[in-house]
Amino acid sequence: MADREKATGDLGLVQSFVNTVDLQDGPEELSDPNTLTAWLVAKGLLDGAPPVDASDLKHAIALREAIRSVIGANSGSKVYPVDIATLNEAAAASGLRMRFGVDGKPRLEPEATGVVGAMGRIVAAMYAAMEGEDWWRLKLCSSQACRWAFYDRSKNHSSRWCAMASCGNREKARRFRSHSKTHA
Ligand SMILES: [Zn+2]
Repeated sequence: MADREKATGDLGLVQSFVNTVDLQDGPEELSDPNTLTAWLVAKGLLDGAPPVDASDLKHAIALREAIRSVIGANSGSKVYPVDIATLNEAAAASGLRMRFGVDGKPRLEPEATGVVGAMGRIVAAMYAAMEGEDWWRLKLCSSQACRWAFYDRSKNHSSRWCAMASCGNREKARRFRSHSKTHA
């Protein structure tokens, strides 16, 4: 997957969270509470190793898919109310509030600790990324089986596939086959 584009900063964090699963080919990185903890610690979103249970994992995956849905709006997909509700629940549960950092810049920070707080940090990163000028470059692959979050670096913002080498060509081959069938 070296040819798949990566964003940086808050946008990059949101992208890497959504891409903790490759829906088409696997693997699922957040396969159990331990791998969720490891991922959050590696990203600096979780301090120490608080207890993480199956319900935390369920919430994290629901949040991930809600974020995927909102990113889909950048590639023309509909955002469902259930996904908006999931995002608002994560924001509320973590007690996000505005704080000025030592650099004098305001940001959202969670009052909650543990995984709930970590989920709040992801929502805060999403908020910051959406305020940034590159948010709309984060898109979902047009392949319904893939829906990988990719960063559209193209000048005319026209990229539709996570990587032409995989999904784009697969889609072209599929169209070519159905076209040949129709006209055989
Ligand atoms: Zn794809």
